[in-house]
Amino acid sequence: MKQAEDIRILIIYTGGTIGMIENPETGALENFDRNSLLRHIPELKRFQMQIEVETFGHPIDSSDMEPACWERIVRLIADNYDRCDGFVVLHGTDTMAYTASALSFMLENLGKPVVITGSQLPLGKLRTDGKENLLTSIEIAAARDADGLPMVPEVCIFFESRLMRGNRTTKINAEGFNAFRSYNLPSLAHAGIHIRYATHLIRRPTPDAVFKPHFRLDNHVIILTLFPGIRSEFVESVCRIEGLKAVVLKTFGSGNAPQRPWLFDTLRRLSRRGVIVVNVTQCSAGSVEMRHYRTGLGLLKAGVVPGYDATPEAILTKLMMLLGHNCSRDELIRRLGTDMAGEMTVEND
Ligand code: ASP
Repeated sequence: MKQAEDIRILIIYTGGTIGMIENPETGALENFDRNSLLRHIPELKRFQMQIEVETFGHPIDSSDMEPACWERIVRLIADNYDRCDGFVVLHGTDTMAYTASALSFMLENLGKPVVITGSQLPLGKLRTDGKENLLTSIEIAAARDADGLPMVPEVCIFFESRLMRGNRTTKINAEGFNAFRSYNLPSLAHAGIHIRYATHLIRRPTPDAVFKPHFRLDNHVIILTLFPGIRSEFVESVCRIEGLKAVVLKTFGSGNAPQRPWLFDTLRRLSRRGVIVVNVTQCSAGSVEMRHYRTGLGLLKAGVVPGYDATPEAILTKLMMLLGHNCSRDELIRRLGTDMAGEMTVEND
């Protein structure tokens, strides 16, 4: 079994509030590197493990995240996968749930922890939440069970006191420190005096499965939110967009839509053109059940695919990943209905 001092954690800094360290005299932003980290969090020296830091050449606000950035993160993880025991990704909070979802699909058969965290207040501010978030994330990334295996070999988000499966999360608060929730799956761990792991919920790669990073994503997708009074010509024009390959349709309640013939016609036309439409609910918790009400059934008949209890972030990035792999429409629909990375609970309806 590895000794604590042999464990190597790679911190990947992409940007976001956590690293916006201002020089109090000049007001200029400091470079975020190993030295500035140690200056602001001297406690890091008390960890026995080895900690390395990689920074995105040009750190970004996470509103600027895009598939090319996810590919870069995956490349960094893949290039250091054999050498390192765990990864901590520092990221802005705004699009963190999208990144966590994308990485969960791009890192197939992941056998090592990838813990994503950030903060609402920058390191260097007196009341920063970044320090606790980072220290606990490192501890989780390095944690081993009695057999010396990683405690959480998953892509997760750690924020405030909760460790959540990344592809189940949503940002719910623009201000509070408790900024993320996983409504449809309990937390994987809770950090109080002790870090208590819900081991029965944690995914493990199938033994002998080889880690396989994926780099190709296709973003010919759109999210369309239904609302009372939505106009037919607006929906139709969105659906006529050339190159469109998939729509994440945010419906009401358990997957319902207005009973308008034009809507079902539009969806049928999309389906005939080969465009995939996935039904996710606008509600924060619960699942799409398309056989429950007549409106849901109508969508099913129009070729719409259920997204079960997955978040829109998870379905969007799953689509990007599947579309990037040029599989046939049937295969794509089959895989959409399969739980690939713990992102959804599939019902046998
Ligand atoms: N706008 C910032 C970002 O997402 C907010 C944050 O880091 O919390 O990069």
